[in-house]
Amino acid sequence: MIRRNFITNIFKIFSLFAIIPKSVLAFFQQNYLGKSNSIKIISKSANVDTQIPLYKKLNHDFISLKDFAKVMHYSIYTNDAKKKSVLYMGKDRIRFTADNSFVILNDDALQMPLECKWTHGEILVPVIYFTKLLNQYTSLTFTYDVKKKTIEINPSNVNITGLRLEEKENGTLILVHASKKFSEKEIMLDIRNGWFHIEVYGGKIDTTSISKIPGKGYITKIKGFQLGDTASLAFKLKGKIESRDLVLQESRNDFYVNLRTKSVISINKENEHVKAELEQQKKKWYIDTIVLDAGHGGKDSGAPGYNKKINEKDIVLPITLELGKLLKQKLRDVKIVYTRKTDVFIPLWKRTDIANKANGKLFISIHANGSTSQKLNGFETYFLSADKDEKARGVVLKENSAIEFEETVDRQRYEGVNFILATMAQSAFIKQSQYLASVIQKSLKLKLEKIGMTDRGVKQGPFWVMVGATMPNVLVETGFVSNKYEFNKLIKSTTQKKIADAISQGVIKYKNDIEDAF
Ligand SMILES: [Zn+2]
Repeated sequence: MIRRNFITNIFKIFSLFAIIPKSVLAFFQQNYLGKSNSIKIISKSANVDTQIPLYKKLNHDFISLKDFAKVMHYSIYTNDAKKKSVLYMGKDRIRFTADNSFVILNDDALQMPLECKWTHGEILVPVIYFTKLLNQYTSLTFTYDVKKKTIEINPSNVNITGLRLEEKENGTLILVHASKKFSEKEIMLDIRNGWFHIEVYGGKIDTTSISKIPGKGYITKIKGFQLGDTASLAFKLKGKIESRDLVLQESRNDFYVNLRTKSVISINKENEHVKAELEQQKKKWYIDTIVLDAGHGGKDSGAPGYNKKINEKDIVLPITLELGKLLKQKLRDVKIVYTRKTDVFIPLWKRTDIANKANGKLFISIHANGSTSQKLNGFETYFLSADKDEKARGVVLKENSAIEFEETVDRQRYEGVNFILATMAQSAFIKQSQYLASVIQKSLKLKLEKIGMTDRGVKQGPFWVMVGATMPNVLVETGFVSNKYEFNKLIKSTTQKKIADAISQGVIKYKNDIEDAF
């Protein structure tokens, strides 16, 4: 960039003195700039080897989605008024919105670190994240060479090569063909919203061909998703299943899953079923229920306050109730569900259980921090992750220690929970949780720095309270009750209202952004 400007400027200076004829100058300039102002799309299988223009925005490389679609022979539809484009790549339908970093792949919201731009009726996509996204979530491999300015597209190496369904008397058998041996630890079975999921960590599928396989028996539809390193096979169920078993074979790579059912669904109900399903799909992403979780309560006081009289549980409850009140005012048709509205003890597992049963679309857990070091201060927002930031260790230990107050039977629920698998099961929500955490933290920063509180940023950690939630979820640490200054702030209702207001604004920004992307 610097070199190019330098050369261009030299040409300009020369041209001022008319040392080089203008036509010669134009020739050199065009060729020199032409090289770095275009990018080559190469696909041997599609017989493509074509240059398309490259756009620079804030020092990032962008290409026009229309140009890309044209050379690759993909269809594209653009809505000028809404500044949205839909790209059709085989069976995948990908929606891009200008000034929005969410990308909708079929029915899943994914996020790029950079927003798409809009120029002269065209969506511009950031090359590096666009290729990364397609690489991860479609059945093609995209290789972007930043130096050579080329994007190479190849069919990718799938290791889950096919599926077969067999109808049995007491259910349906799913046979999964694989070219690689997967261990029991890498395969997760799960039921979410009427879909049975087989998630294979390290699996790579051709989503197009998987999604073409017709349903059979108790399964009405099959969909394949590539979610990063995880291949997700989803099966739409006709109704409830009694049990499911995973069977691995010692001598073969293939494995199968046995879905056992008892009841038989009448065929007459099929039409109603399809109708209801479409309606449900439409509503899937609409944030109509928000679950608010005031941390601790009852015999569990949470972090002890600076004066040892007012503790974490007493501070987070009014903040949570105020947050609910504000959200109800600002988002009239959104239902607010609380895990507790009074000073009662609720086990951690029960909190996400309440959220899941209420069909919550967001789960926000409100806490206040504590430390033996009275110097520590500031507010931070967490999302669930198997890894933890080094500095988050104490917070994770402190919040997870709430299980010590639980009955033995309740405590047994946490035994054997593997955070890696738990976060894998939530893989679709982690990106969104991360985004929700970032908008809430930004919003808190705007309000709380003014009153002398410190921004500790967005962090991640393995929190029990977030494990089972089948929705985007975050945990907010609103400040340190062990720090004299912050304690005196946090016990004041004006500060509590400020915090609630900031969180509500973050939630509204998130809701608008994600709903706007659809
Ligand atoms: Zn807490």
